[in-house]
Amino acid sequence: MKKLILGIFFVWFSFVFSQTPKDSISVLAPKEDNLLRISAWEKQLEQARARGDIYTQMKVLMDMIYLKVNNLADTTTSYEDALELEKLVNEHPSNRAVSLIEAPLNMFLGFLIRDQNRLEESISYFEKGVSLAKKHGQKEFFKDANVALSNVFNRLQKKEKALALINDLITKALNEKDSTLLTRAYEAKSGYFFDNKLIDSSLYYAKKSIDNNAPYNQQSFRLYRIAECYSMLETYNDSVIYYGEKALEIAEYSQNDREQKYAHGLLKDIYGKVGKYEEAFHHFSKFYSFEQEQLSFNNALKIGQSNIELEKERAQLQQALTYQKLSNQKIILWSVLGILSILVIAIIYISNRLKLIKKQNKIIAQEKLRAEQSERYKEQFLANMSHEIRTPMHAISGMLNSLRRQPHPESQNDFLNVMKISADNLLVLLNDVLDMSKIESGNLDIEQVNMNAKVSLEQVVAVCKYKAEEKGLELKMNISPDFPDTIIGDPDRLHQILMNLLSNAIKFTEKGYVEINLSQKDDNLRFTIKDTGIGISSNQKELIFDSFKQGKSKSKGKFGGTGLGLTISKQLIELQGGEIWVESEEDKGSIFYIELPLIVGEKTEATQKLVGESELKSLGNALKGLRVLVAEDNEFNIMVIKDDLTWYIPEVKITFVENGKLAFETFKKFDFDIILMDVQMPEMNGYKATRKIRKFEKDNNIIKPIAIVAMTASLLKNQIDKCYDAGMDAYIPKPYKAEDFMNTLIKVTQGL
Ligand code: ADP
Repeated sequence: MKKLILGIFFVWFSFVFSQTPKDSISVLAPKEDNLLRISAWEKQLEQARARGDIYTQMKVLMDMIYLKVNNLADTTTSYEDALELEKLVNEHPSNRAVSLIEAPLNMFLGFLIRDQNRLEESISYFEKGVSLAKKHGQKEFFKDANVALSNVFNRLQKKEKALALINDLITKALNEKDSTLLTRAYEAKSGYFFDNKLIDSSLYYAKKSIDNNAPYNQQSFRLYRIAECYSMLETYNDSVIYYGEKALEIAEYSQNDREQKYAHGLLKDIYGKVGKYEEAFHHFSKFYSFEQEQLSFNNALKIGQSNIELEKERAQLQQALTYQKLSNQKIILWSVLGILSILVIAIIYISNRLKLIKKQNKIIAQEKLRAEQSERYKEQFLANMSHEIRTPMHAISGMLNSLRRQPHPESQNDFLNVMKISADNLLVLLNDVLDMSKIESGNLDIEQVNMNAKVSLEQVVAVCKYKAEEKGLELKMNISPDFPDTIIGDPDRLHQILMNLLSNAIKFTEKGYVEINLSQKDDNLRFTIKDTGIGISSNQKELIFDSFKQGKSKSKGKFGGTGLGLTISKQLIELQGGEIWVESEEDKGSIFYIELPLIVGEKTEATQKLVGESELKSLGNALKGLRVLVAEDNEFNIMVIKDDLTWYIPEVKITFVENGKLAFETFKKFDFDIILMDVQMPEMNGYKATRKIRKFEKDNNIIKPIAIVAMTASLLKNQIDKCYDAGMDAYIPKPYKAEDFMNTLIKVTQGL
């Protein structure tokens, strides 16, 4: 039925507005305009009737029928108009309007009668329309009348006749290469299959009927048909929506109420089906208003019945929509609640984490403090311990020296020597432990003074020579001839490093030789200490420079040692910007390499001389008659100092006092060349006494201040600094080596 109306619409449209471009929107009047136009036509009709103008009456009536049927879907008054026009045509068959309108009039009548379900009757109108269109050469009417006829045959179950008619149209279209007719025929065929519930075939021909050049109303209907087919096939909801929306778009664009209503009808159902009730309700409302308008042309009873159904549908949709909104609200509510709970959990978690982190940070800070404290305690403890051990050690080694100097039976020589070596070893050990704690606490300072590396090396070799000889090892030394005499460095530390490495080489070598070389390598000085000893395995090579790590476990018992020597050496070398490494093969020997930045120094009178007993004696001669004030409270230390001074310095005059206060008093009363000042003493310590002496000298304008040398068992830097701060000129660590002792005495008494 729809396609017939559309067909007629198209024909009449072309006929009436043949001057206007087909697809121009301007010709498609909005509904209000159409109503206005109808009332204008009615007036025009009245006037034409009054003056007996048949031509105008016929034309105006035809216009009205077309507009009422197609755009306003008014099948009631348009039927009355059609009957009036039929009467006019019958009465005035020769009017010049008749040839134009008789074909479309018969088709409209056919359609309107068919709409009243008078199918058989409608056939004669359509057939008349076909023959009249043929007669007047109105090709479009001919096509549409045929299509309409096929539809009626189909509905009357005259299927073969309907199909034959459509196929005839297709053949005709193909023969005449008439694409418009062909797509119209396909559309008719699609309708035929649709009416016969062959949806797949209907869909097939509906798609074939799509023609972008077709007028809007046809395009819209064909798209609608595709959507309708998909809707029947049930599983293609997306396609239904897609084609339905497209059909609606074109129908809205062309202001075609009928097509809009169809599209809204389809869309309300499909959106309802997929649960999009908001959209469904929108299309329902649109559909409802079109339906109401269309029904308003029909009788009240029909309106009532239809309204009941539509109201029912509206109520159902409304319910579904409310339910959906409610459930949407619920979803939102739950989502919000969910997000809130996640937020709460997150906040709790984060605050707990923060608390934990804060707690951990506090613990870390406490631990750090504790570690620093314990580091300080350790250093303090070691310093105290070393001080406490050094003091008796000083007595032991000092008195050992005295014993060795004094006449004794030869049989005691060995005992005395062993005691001396043991005491020295014990001192090295003490120094190592103290150095380690200084390194760990970052308190170890490196001196940068002019020194002779060659002399340092010679001294170490001289000391170690005896040990090597004892083991039957050859000890070789090579110094490259062009090596500078003076360099900048720390002689004591270099001595310590070389001593350690050379002792190790001798210690870990049973036969063969030990060779130590000094040369210049690029901008560095390089020592190589080579031995033919037990060697070091490759995995041990990495470890031997770590604290307390020793090589082969078997070597431990056999060779002794603490495992600190290499660690300290490495640290001392690195503190000076140098490097130490080893090349070694097990049982074949090792080569230790030391490289230190080489800075050439100024040539000075080197005091760094290796001195033997006889040299010490001659140094002592230079100090003949020295007047020494010794402030010392420890009687063993007094014995040692007294013995050393009298041994080396002829006619030495020694005055002993037991505390700082007495030292100050005695200094004021008598003349002295030097004061040897213990630091820790009862009543007044060495620092304070020194300060007082220096103040006294200043207050009394004494030009030549007295030499004050600290004698301390403490090797801590801050303690030594304190000595200098108080005004002392030098310090001698207890226990001291005789040469250090003598050298210092010479330096301070002559230098002043
Ligand atoms: P210590 O000699 O007191 O054990 P060191 O730190 O001086 O400590 O040396 C660590 C370890 O390195 C030694 O125990 C030894 O196993 C290995 N080592 C050092 N020098 C040599 C060497 N010249 N030949 C073989 N092994 C060596």
